[in-house]
Amino acid sequence: MLKLRLKRDLRKNVLRGHPWIYREALEKAKGNTQMCELLDKKGQFLAWGFYDAKSPLAVRILSTKKKPPNKHFFETRMRQAFSLRRAFINADDTNSYRLFNGEGDRLPGLVCDLYDRVAVLQFDGEGSFEFWDQDFIAEWLIENTDVDTVYFKPRRSEDKKPRTWGKELESEKLLIKENGHSFFVNIVDGQKTGFFFDQRENRKYIQSLSRNKTVLNLFSYTGGFSLYAGAGGAKETLSVDLAKEALELANESWLETFGDSKGHSSKACDVFDFVRETTESWDIVIVDPPSMTHSEKNKKSAVKSYVDLFAKASQLVSPQGQLVFSSCSSHISFNDFLEIISEALSQARLTGRILRVSGQGPDHPFPHFCDELRYLKFVHLCLD
Ligand code: SAH
Repeated sequence: MLKLRLKRDLRKNVLRGHPWIYREALEKAKGNTQMCELLDKKGQFLAWGFYDAKSPLAVRILSTKKKPPNKHFFETRMRQAFSLRRAFINADDTNSYRLFNGEGDRLPGLVCDLYDRVAVLQFDGEGSFEFWDQDFIAEWLIENTDVDTVYFKPRRSEDKKPRTWGKELESEKLLIKENGHSFFVNIVDGQKTGFFFDQRENRKYIQSLSRNKTVLNLFSYTGGFSLYAGAGGAKETLSVDLAKEALELANESWLETFGDSKGHSSKACDVFDFVRETTESWDIVIVDPPSMTHSEKNKKSAVKSYVDLFAKASQLVSPQGQLVFSSCSSHISFNDFLEIISEALSQARLTGRILRVSGQGPDHPFPHFCDELRYLKFVHLCLD
């Protein structure tokens, strides 16, 4: 068994539940990706984890209990994640959600989204891919949940082949139900695992605001916010995104839900151009861009891009209208985000009041001592 010793005194952090040890905090670490025993600076047992041979994030903590994790340990964690979802997700109106959220379910690096009877697996980084036993997870899912098919979907940056367990995937396009609304999802070609479940509760909130409003949904992807706005009685909705295929799914989902296409239109273009060029205005403008920075190094330029974008988007809001800003970048904290919003509004010569601040839904839990994994920010304002 690989034993790794801390060079820094991180005992307190680990015992508080922080799930990561960076390489520079360890005494010399060598070996393949595998389970390891983590020792504190004095050489005392601290935790079990797995060592990632290649990443700067060298150890992901599994447990601080003395007993080494075994098969039963991992089964228990998967079962707990499943029970947690069943406790707060109403199966009558929602059949799709995130089942395993990595560190947030104490299954570090393991992501699994359920699309009704199809589970999509992803791994956060090479070490997680190597550590987790995919056959074991797939078999557990097929035996213990309603899943018939498990599909491993490599991330776009990964040079890996997809894999399937259980029943063949009949179609890459699936029809799912979320809060009673129907959505078409393409799990094979779509972004991430196919759908952004982290915004589910926020989408529901948008529904509650939309009666008789015109709604502009920027970076709409497959039209999640638009469709909920429509269900809430919006007069008109416009989805804008670069991805034509995503907008096609948005239109199909709208048709499936409302029976005709009235009330929704879509525009495939670059949002940065759109906000510069358009002269129309809307009662509610939603801005949910992709992460603009994947590293701390680029944070400054990302902040500037957010500010420019949000300032321009603010100018598309009708007088006394409403704005919704969101960001999924883990390098931008809630405080950074409020700062960005203040600067953007100030550049647009506007002020507003915040009606709601929220984040990721409860199927995206995060450890209480790990702000990095509290990544989704959602802020709703009304303009003065
Ligand atoms: N709000 C969505 C998720 C947005 S994800 C939901 O609730 O499902 C970010 C989206 O931004 C992706 O669909 C991506 O295609 C789109 N995108 C990225 N860069 C863009 C750009 N410059 N202009 C328009 N869309 C862009």
